[in-house]
Amino acid sequence: MPANNRKDSDRLSQVVADARRHMKEREKTYREKALKMYPHVCGRCGREFSGKGLRELTVHHRDHNHDNNPPDGSNWELLCIYCHDNEHGRLEVAEAYDGQSSSTAPPDSDFSHKPFAALEALLKGKK
Ligand SMILES: [Zn+2]
Ligand SMILES: [Zn+2]
Repeated sequence: MPANNRKDSDRLSQVVADARRHMKEREKTYREKALKMYPHVCGRCGREFSGKGLRELTVHHRDHNHDNNPPDGSNWELLCIYCHDNEHGRLEVAEAYDGQSSSTAPPDSDFSHKPFAALEALLKGKK
């Protein structure tokens, strides 16, 4: 029966669609919860968001685990997209520094003479 075949493929696409919808809904749910729970202000730069601008306000997970969504919102922080980017970039940079700083000499030792040398040359050249 053609009706049966169609039903099967319908069910399959239904399952896929459901899975997709659930993923989106889950994302939407914690975002909406966070937006209800916290003032619509970026936790870093303090910008306020409303109306269409609210799209730029995103939910940051403090422990970086998007599956950790406690109902009390303790793992959420509202950040604008720029500060959110920054937050993740900064952490990566900090980690990179932590890995290196202990073994390599501070860059200052090499740097400190150069500015003076350049200044000296500049002063001599002008006189
Ligand atoms: Zn911000
Ligand atoms: Zn984040």
